[in-house]
Amino acid sequence: MAGSAVLQYDFFPLGIFQCNCSILSRDGRAVVIDPGDEFDKILGVLDDAGLTVEQILLTHAHIDHVGAVAAMKRHFGIGVALHPADQPTYDLLPMQAQWTGMPAPEPFTIERSLVSGEKIDCLGREMQVLFTPGHSPGSVSFYLPEEGKVIAGDALFRGSIGRTDLPGGDHDLLIRSIQKRLLVLPPETEVYPGHGESTTIGQEIRKNPYLQGR
Ligand SMILES: [Zn+2]
Ligand SMILES: [Zn+2]
Repeated sequence: MAGSAVLQYDFFPLGIFQCNCSILSRDGRAVVIDPGDEFDKILGVLDDAGLTVEQILLTHAHIDHVGAVAAMKRHFGIGVALHPADQPTYDLLPMQAQWTGMPAPEPFTIERSLVSGEKIDCLGREMQVLFTPGHSPGSVSFYLPEEGKVIAGDALFRGSIGRTDLPGGDHDLLIRSIQKRLLVLPPETEVYPGHGESTTIGQEIRKNPYLQGR
């Protein structure tokens, strides 16, 4: 990949649940992961950097990760991708709104089904879809091997793991997903979770209390 420049990466929290939104970009083009809320704030970041969004990717369909999807799709005339196993989570969005007291997000259609293990071309760089269910039935993580980064959604956090008490949650499955698909990545891989600060795979192997003695 000689001469292929590293992607620009931006990561910032949105909304009352402080869901982290990721923006990957190069040469004025961008891919946005989990535009959870505050469309105007995301648009401000994009406009300041002169970026046009080409694709929206979702780690899963919880309300705090999808709030700005409809507005962003309309603004840029683009599609959104989700793993089909999270369709039931999407279908529960009106109920999720009731549980959280948040306004129900504007409904949106899903143009693309993510496939476990598939390699997506992300602005000229390889991105692997890692199927990491457990927090929700169709949760995925997005791994960029050349960048040494994984965007982990609500599977793995710094010092913690995703909650599994919501519909479709499965604690043992989440642990297996993390072990099989995330902890096998190079230890120096930077982890960008759905909430809170970034970490590395090596640090979580050593210190994450949920992953010790396994
Ligand atoms: Zn979630
Ligand atoms: Zn979340």
